[in-house]
Order: sequence, then C-alpha cells, then structure tokens
Amino acid sequence: MYCNNVEADRDLTDSEKDLLRALMQIGKPEAYRFIPQIEDVRVKIECDCGCGRIYFVTERSDDVMILASRKFDRDDGGTFVYFVLSVGETLAGLESISYNRFGEIEEYPEDALFRSLGK
Ligand SMILES: [Zn+2]
Repeated sequence: MYCNNVEADRDLTDSEKDLLRALMQIGKPEAYRFIPQIEDVRVKIECDCGCGRIYFVTERSDDVMILASRKFDRDDGGTFVYFVLSVGETLAGLESISYNRFGEIEEYPEDALFRSLGK
C-alpha cells in the first residue's frame, strides 16, 4: 500500500474534525488558536491509500510547523503517527506516517513531510 496524493475539494468529515480537534487539544500551546479553523478549511489534497492524510493548502512552504502529533499502536506491532500541520497562520493539514514493527518507515511521503504538495 503506497501513498498517492490526489486533488480534492471537499469539507472535512465529522471524524476528521474530531481527530484534528482531539490532536490539537493535546498539542503545542500554539495549536489552540488554530482549532476554530477546523470548521472552515476544505480538503484540497488527500491520499487515496487509506492512510488518512489530508491537506488544506496546495502550495509548498518553508513555513510549516507541527502543531500536534500522536502515535497510535497497530495490531501487527507497528505504529502510525499523525501530525497536524500549519503553514503560517493557516491550518494546513493532517500528515500520517506508518512504521512497521521494526520502527522502519513503511509509507513515507514521497520525500519528506509536506514535500509532495504542489505537484
Ligand atoms: Zn497514504
């Protein structure tokens, strides 16, 4: 299963909103001021592999900040990690990276966090 970012233009689902809110409430203090944007952002890029990765911006930026992250255990001993990202003052997306049980990255974004944007 490999990540494949595709264009989108949709509202967030309720479960995506809930996940973002939950992550941001336990994230960095700065994350709080981005929480209201959850209701306004639209998904512009998403991954069709099922990893849950969604972006609300389409431009690459050097001004990316990780607002929150959380690791989840998988049944097979691996883990996956969600990252909530901002670009400047904009809530920018939800990144997901999977690790196998040896701690090796399984589904790495093409190069690095966020770098696949703007293709
Ligand atoms: Zn994916």
